[in-house]
Amino acid sequence: MFVVPKVLVNDDGSLGTPNDVQCLSIEHKLGIHASPTCVMAYGQSQGAVGYLVGEPNRGLEYMFVMMNAARLSVGLEGYAVAERAYQQALDWAGTRIQGKPPGVRQEGPAPIVHHPDVKRMLLSMKSQTEALRALTLYTAWQLDLGAQHPDELARARAQARGDLLIPVVKACSTETGIELASLGIQIHGGMGYVEETGAAQAYRDVRITTIYEGTTAIQSNDFAGRKLARDRGESMGALIADMRAELQALQIDHPAVMSARDASLAGVEELEQATHSLLQSYAQSPERALAVSVPMVRLAGYVIGGWLLTFSAAIAAHRLANGATDRDFLQGKIASARFYASQVLPQATALARVVATGADGVLDVGEAALSR
Ligand SMILES: Cc1cc2nc3c(=O)[nH]c(=O)nc-3n(C[C@H](O)[C@H](O)[C@H](O)COP(=O)(O)OP(=O)(O)OC[C@H]3O[C@@H](n4cnc5c(N)ncnc54)[C@H](O)[C@@H]3O)c2cc1C
Repeated sequence: MFVVPKVLVNDDGSLGTPNDVQCLSIEHKLGIHASPTCVMAYGQSQGAVGYLVGEPNRGLEYMFVMMNAARLSVGLEGYAVAERAYQQALDWAGTRIQGKPPGVRQEGPAPIVHHPDVKRMLLSMKSQTEALRALTLYTAWQLDLGAQHPDELARARAQARGDLLIPVVKACSTETGIELASLGIQIHGGMGYVEETGAAQAYRDVRITTIYEGTTAIQSNDFAGRKLARDRGESMGALIADMRAELQALQIDHPAVMSARDASLAGVEELEQATHSLLQSYAQSPERALAVSVPMVRLAGYVIGGWLLTFSAAIAAHRLANGATDRDFLQGKIASARFYASQVLPQATALARVVATGADGVLDVGEAALSR
């Protein structure tokens, strides 16, 4: 890594001659217009001067420290933009008047929020945003413990879990963030295409997040290779064991929470099976695992999200039973876990099948078969 100043600095600290570095053009991007990027040219005539940061040959190591923070932050950006899109979509759905769905008895037309499919889209946005927020915060917590826990073994375990989850946060929060921002436009209908609603801006802004700080494929390759195969699934096995034990121990007199718990436990089984499949594939040839690494990381994201949402719902149910006053908020947490268990988590079953059997459909295809 180098710092290349615009103006060279003299030995006495005063500004010297301009460095041979030029900005050739500002890029016109899809969204994030408040964060301009440009094409730079270094050393076109007499040569540019750059200053090495840190020690020679340790750049890759430094980059990974920087990258972990950046990957976590971009993961956060993915769900944060989706959260903004949700708030916009929720406001819209509560005020946009259209034909009434059959079950609504009020006089005259009603807002679209009463339509089952609009409610489905809103719940999809709400539940997945909450799951991704929980996943990101859980990962950040593990990294904090990895840096600060007084016990050395606990530090090492937490760091391993944080490292395992970094690519999951980055890949899943951004891929889902795009899907949710797209749902936000869908809820707005035709007005989603009209700039004044702001729905399209969220979609454009979030689109970059699966690309910068490592594309989804790069995160997934890291997950399959460095995070799963390198320790033969040990870190993932520890996480699976913790999730299973905690879910099995959860007992609460609330049918919706218990049914979310059962769905989450089934998801943990799928994740375990898929981890074994992926490790077997990797042992045959890394290529086999890389052909299904994106489905694998998405599966991990859905299942870990389900585990965390189940606990969020259990805490909410406990507080409700103990007379908490913010009842709508707490009921909302239970609604999220319930919806997630019935409409989001079933994707884990399909993804586990893809991880187990999907590689041949990629690897057996020669490039010639892609021609049109
Ligand atoms: C708006 C914006 C801001 C940016 N800001 C910065 C910045 O501040 N600093 C900075 O350093 N960079 C920045 N970048 C660069 C960004 O990090 C890269 O564009 C990104 O890492 C992808 O690399 P690439 O463009 O070379 O794509 P490629 O590597 O060419 O990727 C193209 C496609 O091939 C796939 N692919 C490539 N290699 C593999 C592989 N090994 N396995 C599987 N699939 C693969 C990718 O997943 C992708 O789908 C920025 C980019 C944009 C668009």
